[in-house]
Order: sequence, then C-alpha cells, then structure tokens
Amino acid sequence: MNLHSLSVFRFRKERIEELVSIPGIIAYSHHFTDEGKWIGGKVSSVKLKDLSNSFYPLKQIIPEGVKGTKNEPIFGKAYYLETDRGCSERCKFCFVGNCRFPRTSRSLDSLIDIIDQAGEVNDFDKIVLYGSAIAQSGILDELIEYIVDKGYEVSCSSFRADYLSEKLLKALRKGKQRTLSLAPETGDENLRMALNKRMEDETIFSALKLAWDTGFRRLKLYMIYGFPCEEEKIKDSTKDFLSTVRERHFPTGRIGISMNQFITKAHTPFQFAPMIGVKESKEEQKWYKSNLYQIKNIDLSLYAPEWSIIQRVLSLQNHEYYPVIYQIARGRNTVGSWKLALKEIDSNLDQEAKWKYETNEPLPWDHITHTLEKKTLISSYMKYLETMECK
Ligand code: SF4
Repeated sequence: MNLHSLSVFRFRKERIEELVSIPGIIAYSHHFTDEGKWIGGKVSSVKLKDLSNSFYPLKQIIPEGVKGTKNEPIFGKAYYLETDRGCSERCKFCFVGNCRFPRTSRSLDSLIDIIDQAGEVNDFDKIVLYGSAIAQSGILDELIEYIVDKGYEVSCSSFRADYLSEKLLKALRKGKQRTLSLAPETGDENLRMALNKRMEDETIFSALKLAWDTGFRRLKLYMIYGFPCEEEKIKDSTKDFLSTVRERHFPTGRIGISMNQFITKAHTPFQFAPMIGVKESKEEQKWYKSNLYQIKNIDLSLYAPEWSIIQRVLSLQNHEYYPVIYQIARGRNTVGSWKLALKEIDSNLDQEAKWKYETNEPLPWDHITHTLEKKTLISSYMKYLETMECK
C-alpha cells in the first residue's frame, strides 16, 4: 500500500467513524463482524417529520431535448416538485405504506414559494408534481390552479381513486394533464380488501366516470398479479373489472394497463411471502395477453419476471449475496449475468422466487426499526392468510 492509498484509507476510516455517528447510517465495517454477524444494536430508520420546513433544490437540471424528436425528455422541459412523502394507508405489499408513515406534506404556501423562486432560476414550461400519496393532502386542486395561472402545464403521478374530486380533475385538465393514472392493483374487490387497499369497485368506477365527464380520454391502470395464495378465479375477476371499465366508464380512448408481478419487499407484512417462479409468471402473462386483447383499445405492458425476481433478491437477501452483487457491479447488469452469478452460489431465479422466511426466524434486517414492530407485520400477514383461506 503506498502513502497515498494509506492516507485515503485513513481519510475513509475517519469519515466512516463520523458518518456512523449520524442516526440511521450503517457501515459494514462498523456494525458487522467479519463473518457478517450484526453487532450494532438497534438502528432506527430516519424519517423526515416536516416536509414543509425542509430543504428543496430550487435549481434543477432541466433537459433541453427538442419536442417531437427522439431526444424529447419524457415530461418535456419540466421542473420536479415533491408535494408529500410517505402514506397514511397500509397496503400490505407496499414499503412506503408500512415504513413511511405518518405522511408529511408540504403546505400550499411552501409549494407556492418554491414555484415562484424556481421560476426565476430555471427555464421550464411544465411542473411535475410527485409524491407517494399526492392527493391526500387536500391542497392539490388549489396548487394546480396556481400553477396553471402562472402559465405552466402540470403532470402528476398516480392517484388513489377515493381522493379524486371534480375540482381536482378539472384543475388537472386545465393543466393539460392528458392521462389519468390509477392503481386498483387487482380487479377482485375481496382481494383488494385483503391487501388492505380498502377501495370498492364502485369507488373506482365513480372516479372513472368523473374523469370521463371532465374530459379525460386516456387512462393508465397499474395492476399486480401473483399475490400470495392468489386463486385462478382472480384473473377472471380482473378481466371482468377491466371490461367493465372499458364498456361502461371509458367507452373510447386508450387504456394502458401495466400488469406487474407481485414482488416481496422487506419491512412489509408480505416479507414472509414467496413469489411465483419465472415459468408460472410467464403463464400468467400469457393468459392476460390472450384474454385482455379481447377488450378494445388497450395497451398491455408486462415486466420481465426475471427482473421482478432480481428485485426480490435485492430486497430480501443477506450478506452471503455480497459476491453476487459484486460480480454484477463489476460486470454487466443483465438477466444472463444474474443467472451466472446466482449459479456460482448454487442458486437460480426460480429458487430465489419460491423460498421464504418463516415468521419465527430472524431476518437480516431485524436490527432496523421502522414505525411498525415485527410482531405487527406478522399478525397482518397472518390475517391476510386467514382471509384468503390460505393453507
Ligand atoms: S400502495 Fe399507495 S395507497 Fe397503498 S400504502 Fe402504498 S402508497 Fe399508500
């Protein structure tokens, strides 16, 4: 080791010492033994309590692509504005809903202040509003009206149907938002309730009718298949649900359906649930492809099952997977490279999808505490299994 690398090493060591004194930061060298055993005690995740009074980057890099060319940025010349963080709902599959609550929102005054200042130091013609529960703060319609009055267009992420109002939809139309995005997750109302996405079909249908009457002609729906213990009949319910949307509530115009496989996430009640394997997932996709195309004017987008399972590996695995991550980081991040890297530790994608943690076994992230205790997540998972009559 030369003098330079020695000083870099010392510098890094000192920096790590400084960093780990900040709540919420974990360093491998500090909190684990060489064998990968955790020795750091409990670590609480750090949450922002008040978004309104926190820093926001006023100056942003605004892409310059030319409209109508392949270099056109996806949202045009847009400024990105975070309106809220976290969510007060507790959908069982969702990391945000189980780890990032209570939700914190920026106040209307604070958002207006950011927009005014941002307009002076950036050149943009659209504002993209983002947050995990964007309509829940109840100020969105007023905010959008302010943005439109300032001469900007608006684009928002997906909404919960039960928070949509006529006033909000009209404001969105004025802001030239063309597509309305909702996430019903499944077309089966009982499954939706068991997932704790407490929303009846009728609530979604009413929101769609309102959207149609307000002039929306493009719709995007986010759906998930392969939930734990999901029965065959769920596919039919989802098909019926989407047919009803098409026939009764959105009779013309494009409907984009993003159909994604359920992915297990740590720190959620479903952290104990297996996923379906590559073959089963492809079978599900095949069914949706051949059955949903009977519905007029829909665009179905599907995500490769291999990548869903890779997301599970990244979410659930422990330090023994360090060689896999290292190999991918040093080489190429392709499905083929993942298969090879997993093979070297005697694993494969199907195995990674189907194994599961038992509720009484220690989890690699037990030392990290969020708002909910592990026993609460376990009882939430058990309740789901009971509701679904899962053996
Ligand atoms: S899925 Fe959406 S509504 Fe449900 S907890 Fe997550 S962010 Fe909230």
